[in-house]
Amino acid sequence: MGTQTEIPPHAEKKPFLRRLAPDRSQQIRRVAQGLFVLLNGWLGMQFYLWVRYFERGGTGFYVPRPAGVEGWLPIAGFMNFKYFLVTGLVPSVHPAAMFLFMAFVFMSLLLKKAFCSWLCPVGTVSEYLWKLGQRIFGRTLCLPRWVDIPLRGLKYLLLGFFVFIIGSMSAEALQDFMHTSYGMVADVKMMNFFRTMGTTAIVVIAVLAILSVLVQNFWCRYACPYGALMGLVSLLSPVKIRRDADACINCGKCATACPAGLPVDRLIQVRSAECTGCMACVAVCSAQDALQFSLPPNSSAPSNRWHRRALSPRVVVGIMACIFFGLILYARATGHWNTDLPRAVYLELVPHANEASHPGM
Ligand code: SF4
Ligand code: SF4
Repeated sequence: MGTQTEIPPHAEKKPFLRRLAPDRSQQIRRVAQGLFVLLNGWLGMQFYLWVRYFERGGTGFYVPRPAGVEGWLPIAGFMNFKYFLVTGLVPSVHPAAMFLFMAFVFMSLLLKKAFCSWLCPVGTVSEYLWKLGQRIFGRTLCLPRWVDIPLRGLKYLLLGFFVFIIGSMSAEALQDFMHTSYGMVADVKMMNFFRTMGTTAIVVIAVLAILSVLVQNFWCRYACPYGALMGLVSLLSPVKIRRDADACINCGKCATACPAGLPVDRLIQVRSAECTGCMACVAVCSAQDALQFSLPPNSSAPSNRWHRRALSPRVVVGIMACIFFGLILYARATGHWNTDLPRAVYLELVPHANEASHPGM
């Protein structure tokens, strides 16, 4: 007779050990990551051509300034957001930074830190670096708890520093800052940093890259203040990874697959600020409906089975796209998307962007 498959004892009372359809969340996530990297590459190329036009004194090929590049100015986005909250006015310098900041924070409010694992280009590079490390060494390093926990606090300290500085600025001070030479060409300075990197910057980036190969998500887990903010906001998210203990077969695959090192197999819902909603845990779970990225149970419904309120990866992408493009369209339609500065200002400032020093220095 043929070989018999050994059935685990708990399988008898759990009829659905296999998913009916293969999970596509990680393929869909990789497509979203790839598209966002391409979008950022496209914006970077356009912005470079725009900067070169002004560096040549306003001659040669002109490309309009892509406002989307302000997504790389999260601090300006945060400052403008506070200005908007206090005054009710949309700032005229780097307004797109504010709309993109709001979009990413709103995503975290609804979908945990999905921005970090589905869209952020730095998160994408970080993920591919630790996967490279796994391929080379067969595993990544897991820092002991007494090192891991204090290191994780570093990103909150950085976030606290920015919150303290920006929180203590008045609306007038925020507006004045944005209208200094430094504030107006903060985006050009950011690009020049990468164009003319000094030895120190190269060494720091190389060390971070090596650490990211050795330790999963080193930058995101320990040093990114933007991720820290998203994590804190994500604590309010109604959508969480939820485990149905009745359907779970306790195989532990979800915990092994979790890049944030969370004990998913021992939790009923994952509340942690480290959860990025990547759905890697859901993808490896082979017990039907045991693990879902879902809304809380609806106790007033005829059945309170929470898995009926689960979000598919397509819905996750759809929600993120609606928030992202919805806010951009709103800003465009109301005339608040582009920075409102005359061409003469750029002709004067862009070629000398590196000479513009921080007003606080
Ligand atoms: S718990 Fe699941 S969704 Fe959250 S980080 Fe871990 S693998 Fe990703
Ligand atoms: S992957 Fe996690 S949730 Fe799914 S059956 Fe295994 S232990 Fe349970």
